[in-house]
Amino acid sequence: MEKHLLSKSTFIRSTQCLKSLYLHKNRSYLRDRLSAEQLAKFKRGTDFGILAHQLFPGGINLQPKSPSQYKKAIIATSEIISTGNDSCIYEASFQSDQVLIILDVLERKNGKLYAYEVKSSKAISPTYLKDAALQYYVIQNSGLEIEDFSIIYMNENYDHVEGDENKIDLGQLFIIKSVLPEIYELQAFITEHLPKAKETLFLKHSPEIEIGPHCNSPYPCDFIGHCWKNIPKI
Ligand code: SF4
Repeated sequence: MEKHLLSKSTFIRSTQCLKSLYLHKNRSYLRDRLSAEQLAKFKRGTDFGILAHQLFPGGINLQPKSPSQYKKAIIATSEIISTGNDSCIYEASFQSDQVLIILDVLERKNGKLYAYEVKSSKAISPTYLKDAALQYYVIQNSGLEIEDFSIIYMNENYDHVEGDENKIDLGQLFIIKSVLPEIYELQAFITEHLPKAKETLFLKHSPEIEIGPHCNSPYPCDFIGHCWKNIPKI
């Protein structure tokens, strides 16, 4: 199996700015240090994902323990699916077209595959839809048919279980929404953008992209310190 060139996160990075992708892969030493707030946000996202696993009890966790375990995780995912039995996999790994994705939950029910991506957010953003569209693209290209693809996110009106502050009502906390129609519409974007992202990785110099509003949207870029170094702070 050839080594992947892109992952979900690097693909999303490339959709924000190809220069950011180039710097991430080739000049990572120029990256800004992560703030405590950003680290806490990542941790919250991981915790929320693990909590969402409880919506699918009895699943097998195939989370690769390190980057060197990706190949093993892809093979293990494929082996479980190929049994044809009903099953549930947490962190199912797939690779096709030199893109690696790790899906939060893959459920097989009555012979059909259902994909779920968990986001610790109160709404589904356009970036989440691109992320889901890429995952759908990779899974379909690896020869599997996905019956439905949903994003699981946080119910902003969730209130604690009455009488027990520590108990969590999972059915109330999470909203599960199919995004298949949106994903279909984004497939053209994925196939058009992927070659551009891959080409960027092999450029001799970083692409000439001016700074602008995209440096903070949808996420604050972690190369702002480098690209904005000559811009006076107001
Ligand atoms: S700071 Fe702006 S221009 Fe520089 S890599 Fe990030 S998004 Fe691109």
